[in-house]
Amino acid sequence: MTEIRGLRPEQVRSVAVLTGAGVSAESGVPTFRGEGGLWRNYRAEDLATPQAFRRDPALVWEWYDWRRGLVGGCQPNAAHETLAEMEEAFPDLTLVTQNVDGLHRLAGSRKVLELHGNIWRLRCTRGCRPNWEDRRVPLPAIPPMCPDCGALARPDVVWFGESLPRRELEAAFDAAGRCQLMLVVGTSAVVQPAASLPVMALDRGAYVVEVNPQPTPLSALVDEAIRARAAQALPGWWRAWRAGRSN
Ligand code: NAD
Ligand code: ZN
Repeated sequence: MTEIRGLRPEQVRSVAVLTGAGVSAESGVPTFRGEGGLWRNYRAEDLATPQAFRRDPALVWEWYDWRRGLVGGCQPNAAHETLAEMEEAFPDLTLVTQNVDGLHRLAGSRKVLELHGNIWRLRCTRGCRPNWEDRRVPLPAIPPMCPDCGALARPDVVWFGESLPRRELEAAFDAAGRCQLMLVVGTSAVVQPAASLPVMALDRGAYVVEVNPQPTPLSALVDEAIRARAAQALPGWWRAWRAGRSN
């Protein structure tokens, strides 16, 4: 079934997309909980926290330096590309991502809301200036310092226990509330508040499609659960809908 309740893509105005680490897995970026998610035997939950950073900023920065190197060597995959292509086909498509790797923009998506920040951006722990981008890998100094005040710099990402950027979150809920179609791609759908975006879309009567090789708590609620890898399934799903075929 590739019809959105009998609608053609031309009849759909608003689309929202929610992506998680799984959309980048086929680009070679490991998910935290999947294979390859460990670094020096640390779990992400032990490093991506304000407490870990306070205790040992250099250790946390070494982990980010490693992840930046990993992501820097990765290219967007067919799922990122399909989502960028879809942005051209709808008057209103908002892509909400929990990923920090920047691969959606690299694939050409322009309306991207990064709920968890971006691994290429840094910010001053004293907040003396707006965040800045530094793509050097490896970083010349670990831990890096603020170029203006000399305080410790931190990655401009959202750590476990921190709140999400308010403006992005509001825009994400707006998009979920007005969309006719939502795609949920490569996210375990358990981390709040992102996990409530598809629930909101469902409540408002949107057609919700999940793409994930594993079942999630959302799978039972959605209109369509595609049990496959994103880069493998999304291009064909989009092609088939556009061509008006059902499969
Ligand atoms: P997550 O909780 O969103 O889980 C990843 C999901 O992707 C799982 O449900 C898994 O079944 C699914 N998946 C795996 N391979 C897939 C594929 N090929 N196609 C579609 N789905 C696939 O993410 P997490 O790894 O537990 O990380 C939690 C948070 O950490 C993320 O929300 C993100 O902020 C951050 N993170 C970001 C990146 C990145 O930027 N690429 C990578 C790891 C973690
Ligand atoms: Zn500063």
